[in-house]
Amino acid sequence: MQDIVDFIQKTFNTKEFIPLHEPRFIGNEKKYLNDCIDSTFVSSVGTYVDKFEKIFAQKTGSKYAIATVNGTSALHVSLILSDVIRGDEVITQPLTFIATCNAIDYIGARPVFVDVDLDTMGLSPFALKDFLEKNCEIVENQCINKTTDKVIRACVPMHTFGHPCKIDEIRNICNAWNITLVEDAAESLGSYYKNQHTGTFGKLGTFSFNGNKIITSGGGGVIVTDDEKLAQRAKHITTTAKVPHKWEYTHDEIGYNYRMPNLNAALLVAQLEQVENFLEDKRELASEYKKFFDPNKEIDFVQEPENAKSNYWLQSVIVKDIIKRNKFLEYTNRNGVMTRPIWKLMNELKMFKDCQSTSLNNAKYLEERVVNITSSVRL
Ligand SMILES: *Cc1c(COP(=O)(O)O)cnc(C)c1O
Repeated sequence: MQDIVDFIQKTFNTKEFIPLHEPRFIGNEKKYLNDCIDSTFVSSVGTYVDKFEKIFAQKTGSKYAIATVNGTSALHVSLILSDVIRGDEVITQPLTFIATCNAIDYIGARPVFVDVDLDTMGLSPFALKDFLEKNCEIVENQCINKTTDKVIRACVPMHTFGHPCKIDEIRNICNAWNITLVEDAAESLGSYYKNQHTGTFGKLGTFSFNGNKIITSGGGGVIVTDDEKLAQRAKHITTTAKVPHKWEYTHDEIGYNYRMPNLNAALLVAQLEQVENFLEDKRELASEYKKFFDPNKEIDFVQEPENAKSNYWLQSVIVKDIIKRNKFLEYTNRNGVMTRPIWKLMNELKMFKDCQSTSLNNAKYLEERVVNITSSVRL
């Protein structure tokens, strides 16, 4: 395993500790932040939020983008706008970051876990269709889960580590079953499926700009949609549902203080200017990793799936032997190269243990074998 540590140290040109993924601030970050501070508009009003929303919508090919305080709040609001209510069920994958399931739970809904595909690590359209056909029926235009008598209102697939799942097939299945599609695209800025940006297939899509994501605003998120009414509603309820007026405080429903501060947006606008360079470097890194791991019969480097262009946000390998996987983690971390296992499956956490799930063989296989390897932009 020393060869792996040597290779990563050479690739990152250092013998010092190498983090899994660190942000890069090599553009206009300080300039825009200074400008933002000088303007005194550092909080909930300011030009950088508007600027960001405009550029981001263009970049993803969405009609509207609504900045939020983080990716979790973007998901929470998207589910509210999908009419998910207390007691509903929302289909998602067990292999995801906890935020996906937390957002579902905030509403008082429960996740239903459907298996992932091995090639995408994202929700499997085959497993989804199979689950719906075996367990559900449409009654008065709603998808009813016959085993629980609950309404399945929405489906939230996730593009794991920036590798697009088979989102067009998932969309077709959701349409046929009157289930609203919300994409958790938190990890997939710059990833495309059949030349269309991830996050734009569903009614709503969400992204995150947390410190470990491909670009960061410190903390931040965004909702994208092509639906003007939903966009207006998203803006409204993320800004305390205040009715516009010169001085009066009237709020016409329960709203949230989920707006991204201008200070964070200033950082984000600068980051967004550099994202194409970041993406290019990540693809380059991926091809170097691929070449390195190719002769290794015990470790597979995870590549972009068919019909997809991945952003290669977090690069990962599958260590086929479980015991060797644990040795891999131990050895690399002991030698200053940070690596991490993929998440524990959501259905194994105590909060979601009693949720319904399909057989999760693929998710389990990946949970036991996937390791994220050092993935920072090297510019
Ligand atoms: C990062 C992430 C989120 C949102 O995270 P925040 O920290 O709230 O911005 C949601 N889902 C997934 C899959 C993520 O990786």
